[in-house]
Formats: sequence, structure tokens, C-alpha cells
Amino acid sequence: MGTRVRRRRKRRRRKAAYTGLFILLFLAVMAMITHCIFLLHGHSVLSKSYYYNKESNIVMGDIVSIKVENPKVLLVNKEHELPADYVPENLVMPDVEFAANAAEERRYMDETASEALEELFAGAKEDGVEMVGVSGYRSYNTQSSIYYRNLRRNGYGYTSIYSAQPGKSEHQTGLAIDVSCAEIGYQLYSRFAQTKEGIWLQEHCEEYGFIIRYPENKTDITGYAYEPWHIRYVGVKVAQYLKLHDITLDEYSKAMGYEEFYDVPSEFN
Ligand SMILES: [Zn+2]
Repeated sequence: MGTRVRRRRKRRRRKAAYTGLFILLFLAVMAMITHCIFLLHGHSVLSKSYYYNKESNIVMGDIVSIKVENPKVLLVNKEHELPADYVPENLVMPDVEFAANAAEERRYMDETASEALEELFAGAKEDGVEMVGVSGYRSYNTQSSIYYRNLRRNGYGYTSIYSAQPGKSEHQTGLAIDVSCAEIGYQLYSRFAQTKEGIWLQEHCEEYGFIIRYPENKTDITGYAYEPWHIRYVGVKVAQYLKLHDITLDEYSKAMGYEEFYDVPSEFN
């Protein structure tokens, strides 16, 4: 074998070794980049997402951190939203009259709220007041169609104070219901406040554990216009407390502090 051949082979081997080293280095760099992207991406996703842990009944995340096993005080508003897949576990159909055009999904409520609603309707009837349910539970998807339809038809200004973005509607909790009466054609008009039914509701709903969730002159706090038809179940004690102090659920929750929210004092349960 000549020296030239040996030198050529040596050169070829060295070239192969360099190429191999380069490929290894390239792979290592790529792996590092991928790892970093994954870490960064994973972090940003985690910091913005919510989890609903079925076993502990806790919705957790950066903004929401609420114990759902005590749903009476579950706060859902423009700053506190529910995950898209959050569905109350015990939805039942309250045995009350609904507006004829109320879709089936909207005739459901959380079981405890449903029982309270039946009592409220019965109490109203005893006083000669006849209400109907219009819209109780709404899924994330239903709320989504309502919101975007509203946005298309009425624009942002109107929509933002009358319609919740998907995930931010109390109706998704199963604890809220819109009610109406014959006098206003079973519609959701602010005129409801002046009907016999609307007046009765303002005077008595807390006795059954409900509050008028978006009261008059509280738009700056609740973010919504006066909705005399939207009642929310919070349990009798909280409802009476809110009425007595003339505060909204938003203010009450803030005052309680979200950490302490896990341990709502028993007198409010
Ligand atoms: Zn409503």
C-alpha cells in the first residue's frame, strides 16, 4: 500500500469523524432548543389554565381557585371564569313552570338550588304571584353562541353589560336562573322590576337563599346592568347577609379573601 493511499484513507476517516461529531452536536443543540421551547410553552400554558379536579371538587388555576363542594358561594364573574368543560355534577330539572320556549338544557339547575327554587315558586304562589323560569343552566357552548350572537346583533357596548363571555356566565354553575312573568310576555326586560312578580322577588328571594345578582346602581362593581330577573342561589344565610349589608356577591367574596374561601365560616353555609 502506498503512502498516498494511506493518507487518503486517514483523511477520509478524519472527515467521517468530523461529520459524526457535527451531527451529534447538531442533535444535542436541537434537543436543547426543543427542551427549552417545551419548558417555556409548558410554563405559559400552566400559568393561564384552569384545572377541575373531580376528586377534590376544586377548580384550580391562576385566577380561579374555588372550592366547588361549597357551590353556594362559587364566584363567577368577569375576573373569575369556569373551565369550558365545567359541568355541575348534580343537575336536575326543578319542578316549576318554565316559559314555553325555554330549551330543555335551560330547564336544569344544581340540585340544591333547584329545591330552593321550587320553594321560592311555591312561596310566591301562596302570595298570588306567578313566575316562570326562562333560563337556568347553560353550558359553555350555549353561552358561547349567545354571547357571539349578541355581539353580532348589538355590538360590544351593549353585549359587555348584558351578556357574559363563555366561561364567565353564572348560568354555567347551575346556581342561577332568569325568571319572568305573563305581564311582560315572559321576556327578560328591566320592566320586570315593576311587575308584581319582580317586586315580590326583590322583597322575598333572600328568604329562599337567592339574591338579585346584578342590582340597580351596582354596574361598576358587578360589571353588568341591572337585571331584576337574574337570581342566584347562595344559601339563605349569605343571601340575608348580602341584603342586610346591601353588598354584591363580588364584594362579599373579595372581603372574604379567596384563601379563606376554602373555609367559609359555618354561619354562612
Ligand atoms: Zn341570567
